[in-house]
Amino acid sequence: MLYQSSRGDSHQAASAEAIKRGIAPDGGLFVPTRRISLTADEIYALAKVDYRERAVRILSPYLSDFTTEEIWDCIQSAYNDRNFDHPAVAPLVELEQGLAVLELWHGPTCAFKDMALQILPHLLVKSMIKTGEDAGILILVATSGDTGKAALEGFKDVPRTAINVFYPARGVSEVQKMQMITQEGHNVGVVAVQGNFDDTQNGVKDIFGSQTMAGMIAERGFKFSSANSINWGRLVPQIVYYFSAYADLLANGSISPGQAVNFVVPTGNFGNILAGYYAREMGLPVQRLICAANENNVLTDFIHTGVYDRVRNFKTTISPSMDILISSNLERLLFELTGHAAARVREWMSLLKRQGRYAVDTETREKVQQLFWSDFASDDETVHCIRETHRRYGYVVDTHTAVGLHVYNKYRSATGDDTPAVVLSTASPFKFNASVAKALLGAHETLGKTEFELLQTLSAFSGMPIPRGLQNLQNRPVLHEKVVEREQMPQSVISFVHKLTGE
Ligand SMILES: *Cc1c(COP(=O)(O)O)cnc(C)c1O
Repeated sequence: MLYQSSRGDSHQAASAEAIKRGIAPDGGLFVPTRRISLTADEIYALAKVDYRERAVRILSPYLSDFTTEEIWDCIQSAYNDRNFDHPAVAPLVELEQGLAVLELWHGPTCAFKDMALQILPHLLVKSMIKTGEDAGILILVATSGDTGKAALEGFKDVPRTAINVFYPARGVSEVQKMQMITQEGHNVGVVAVQGNFDDTQNGVKDIFGSQTMAGMIAERGFKFSSANSINWGRLVPQIVYYFSAYADLLANGSISPGQAVNFVVPTGNFGNILAGYYAREMGLPVQRLICAANENNVLTDFIHTGVYDRVRNFKTTISPSMDILISSNLERLLFELTGHAAARVREWMSLLKRQGRYAVDTETREKVQQLFWSDFASDDETVHCIRETHRRYGYVVDTHTAVGLHVYNKYRSATGDDTPAVVLSTASPFKFNASVAKALLGAHETLGKTEFELLQTLSAFSGMPIPRGLQNLQNRPVLHEKVVEREQMPQSVISFVHKLTGE
């Protein structure tokens, strides 16, 4: 399989090069040059095998420059019982007939980013070796919380890689902060920046753009890379769990072979739901992809009108991992739906950059609307849905998953469609315990309690154990205490590299 840029650059890359580069030379996103299809029999056969075997079968055609042994190696390093606390890796829980929840949060950081970030480092290292790269990779991440920890867990102690994470000193939750500053691993660095997330992100962007910095770390044998969600190596592992959910429904006898299902996806950067689109292209019987947004509903508006307009107020919600106004992976969908019309995609992306807004043509809009349906949930609706889901099913969901369930209910009322549905659950309720505990127990029960106390409260209330990754967090040794000004970020990267290379 070869990959090309969504913006038309004529260079085609094998998967190893696409994963190593992350982004195409012209600033576009790498997309597969042809379509992979599974037969109905191949899909049916997935019902009889476990998650790892499902992963090999889905990943292999996309990573055709990897040997099967190399792919197995990556899969086993990622989806094992040291990293995931459930033998099914991504278990499916049926709430009632026709409605199931796919739990994507059994990895080390309790959120769905682990599904991709546990395997990406291994794919990346193999890609470096395959492309004859002899430098080590230094991953830089600016994080508002979730991604940084998931990337740290993914890259810790992976040979030939190192990772330096920056987070805003004001702007991550107590649990998120503790998760990061207690991070173990010989190749990790975590630094707080005096400022907000924008300052932190701009600081990282400046370092990526600096020739001087690149030269300085090259002297120590390193090259910069990023682990962000536009890397094909993060997207492709996500296709697996759509097939896995379908295979589990088949195995349970909940659906018959070939029967269509709907997937409901709490969406931010459009990466998760786009993997569902690729699964459908590969032959998975998906009728509708339901895009669930919070009040940052830029995608809902786009799906309704064909106009993408990021010029609006950013809202801080209780589902913070979906507080996004630029959904980068939408670019890949536009490339696919226009029949690879790279010139048009380039024009839209350029308008987005210059004016914050673009409108797709009628044909493209109609194609989007045939496949996708979208609505959003306010914070009040999200809280209500957490409470209702617990009352009806005795099942506790986090805020992001609740957005998905609420939008699914809206979909059912609006369309009457009773096709079996799978709601993707993107975080453990313990990860966003303050909002979840408040929704379930009321403000009077949670007022004045720390997030660490609320973990206990939620565990006692729900009867669920606190996940391994969040247990005993407040008592773990703090290993990363450094706080810098934004201007000191480059110097801090250099010190980190010196420390790694023994000076
Ligand atoms: C990242 C994230 C999302 C959004 O996923 P996208 O791929 O960016 O659409 C939703 N929920 C949680 C908990 C996340 O961490």
